[in-house]
Amino acid sequence: MEIARDIVDRLRSMLPAGRPLALHEPLFGGNEWRYVKECIDTGWVSSVGSYVDRFERDLARYTGARAAVATVNGTAALHIALNMAGVEAGDEVLVPALTFVATANAVSHCGAHPHFVEVSEKSLGLDPHRLRSHLEALCERGERGCLNRETGRRIAAVVPMHTFGHPVEMTPLMALCEEYGIAMVEDAAESLGSLYNGLHTGTFGKVGALSFNGNKIITSGAGGALLSNDEALARRAKHLTTTAKLPHAWEFVHDEVAYNYRLPNLNAALGVAQLERIEEFVARKRRLAAAYQELFADLPGVIPFHEPEGARSNYWLNCLLLDRADGEMRDAVLRATHEEGLLTRPAWRLMHRLPIYGHCPRMELPVAEDLEARIVCLPSSVGLAA
Ligand SMILES: *Cc1c(COP(=O)(O)O)cnc(C)c1O
Repeated sequence: MEIARDIVDRLRSMLPAGRPLALHEPLFGGNEWRYVKECIDTGWVSSVGSYVDRFERDLARYTGARAAVATVNGTAALHIALNMAGVEAGDEVLVPALTFVATANAVSHCGAHPHFVEVSEKSLGLDPHRLRSHLEALCERGERGCLNRETGRRIAAVVPMHTFGHPVEMTPLMALCEEYGIAMVEDAAESLGSLYNGLHTGTFGKVGALSFNGNKIITSGAGGALLSNDEALARRAKHLTTTAKLPHAWEFVHDEVAYNYRLPNLNAALGVAQLERIEEFVARKRRLAAAYQELFADLPGVIPFHEPEGARSNYWLNCLLLDRADGEMRDAVLRATHEEGLLTRPAWRLMHRLPIYGHCPRMELPVAEDLEARIVCLPSSVGLAA
């Protein structure tokens, strides 16, 4: 297909040649080696050590959250975040249909049911306006909060996910949550460094979750964190993620069935070093996004995606929107770029189209289905921008 050829030619004219270009690879070169080596030299590699505390302090300071709790990965952070927000077995939780499967899995891990909702073409994230119409038609507000009339279940929480780093339209979503008595848990796994109205994503809801997996804007190898402005909630999250052990010099007393979700000190050391460079990384990502936007500005048939109004996006992943929702065309672009060693990706298979989640309640999803056939993610490593 012509369009696939054009896209490959333009990418080739901009990107370095000679080796395959991954969708996203980490960039080291700061204090990573020094801090990790210190863990090994001192023997503090595992479940206790000063880097965990330091990582939590640095994350809170950087995001403006009152508190941060480091976890073994982002999915674990989301699981505990939902628990902290009061999600119980048998509840429903509103989740965008366009997301990575971890968002829905964390809901399942609570024994709750994901309820898939529509996304916006402006942010690629949850659409609060369409969600309002959906809730107006479907829900009843009662003593226990918001009830789904069709399933009889409580809708306990909503999980906006800031797709590829682009902030969800939070102001109307927060108003909606307030009106319906629905708790908000932000999946900010992709959006460290992204701001909405000048405030950090992940700090709007009752609790937010970050990820430091190897393909995120900064990495701790594997890792995650909860963010919250409620310090009591954060203390409780820390307790639940560290086997609910009561502090004592030698006794092992655990006061509830909890989780071993703590981040090892070794990983925290890597995370601390990476976080020192986050603003430089965001600046580089934004330069890369500007370069892609210019590269594709005048190519008919494609639209380089641009951050939504009122947002500063970290542009974790850059993407093109094909102007026609044509799965074959999208696949031709993916194939042609892969043949050239440009390891592009589609968006995730929509959650309601995965057999594991096909039975879940959902609203009409025309925008998500349209976007699924149009999104092509481009190589977006921090190292690709000067
Ligand atoms: C990366 C990611 C997570 C968490 O992933 P982990 O690999 O468990 O750290 C959750 N949600 C979204 C949308 C993500 O992209």
